[in-house]
Amino acid sequence: MWMSTFWRLARPALQRSTSAAACRALRACRRPGRSGPTSMQLRGQQTLGSACVPLAQHSVRTVRALDEERMVEVEWEGGGHSLYPFTWLRDNCQCPLCTLDSAQARKLSMLDLDVHTGLDAVEVTNDNKVSVLWPDRHTSAFDADWLKRRCFSAAARRASREELFLNQRHYWDSELRVPTADFQEVLRDDRAALDWLLALRRVGVVHLTGAATERGAVARLAERVGYLRLTFYGHTWQVQDKPMANNVAYTSGKLGLHTDYPAMHFAPGVQFLHCISAAEEGGESEMVDGFHMAELLRREDPEAFRTLCSVHVDFTDTGTDYCDFMLQSKKSIIE
Ligand SMILES: [Zn+2]
Repeated sequence: MWMSTFWRLARPALQRSTSAAACRALRACRRPGRSGPTSMQLRGQQTLGSACVPLAQHSVRTVRALDEERMVEVEWEGGGHSLYPFTWLRDNCQCPLCTLDSAQARKLSMLDLDVHTGLDAVEVTNDNKVSVLWPDRHTSAFDADWLKRRCFSAAARRASREELFLNQRHYWDSELRVPTADFQEVLRDDRAALDWLLALRRVGVVHLTGAATERGAVARLAERVGYLRLTFYGHTWQVQDKPMANNVAYTSGKLGLHTDYPAMHFAPGVQFLHCISAAEEGGESEMVDGFHMAELLRREDPEAFRTLCSVHVDFTDTGTDYCDFMLQSKKSIIE
């Protein structure tokens, strides 16, 4: 019931949609009076990818080569300037010979890259691109917005990191009020889905209510933003008391606090648990923020913290379920 690939899948959509400007754009994209269900014809990834986020338009005022520093200096119409190393520009040439546009992937071989390259000429074109002529007569043309997004200034890099990686985190203790969301709303409404994902990213846990008490809800939620990853327990599995249990979760005894799947090389990114039938007595879920506990330990007992970060211990998982499995790994308790 988990997807370790979750963030890899969700991130591109979030990258387009989670900056303050993007969130405003997301709202603006909705026509007044049209808040009905989103089309659900596609599987996975359809959540936010279609959000129309306008790009800011930047214009280049002047450009010049600083030969001694081996940098191109771009002066922007709106004020300010950016510096781009010659080698970086040549390395990131966007022409069809150097980049496969449809995949946004590099084609230029490292063998063909002269890391000491000079530059013969640089100019602003009529369509507001920065055009570079290299000594081997190769030319590159860089879109102004493309360049602006990749400005190397500390402030621009900080803003970019924040937009791409959503660094805001809330480490919590027993005071936490677990964020909640409505299952059906998350399924049908992009804004609710985005809020859910942002809370999940910030806090690490979200309580969804309103799912039907039947199997299948986990898969529907997963396919809203990505897909389920197959494991040796199958695509999904039932956490219930089972004879000859191959996991302590499949017993009626108390399940202590733990981290799931430490034996795996790619541990779960997100797990979805759906309570279909609650026990009449007991069965409470307990959660602890491991990051918060690690931080407390680092402050209160640095040596213990260092030990848990450095000593590798064995993790194993063996049994039969969807298939036979036997996993073995060596990892530190705190990574
Ligand atoms: Zn090129």
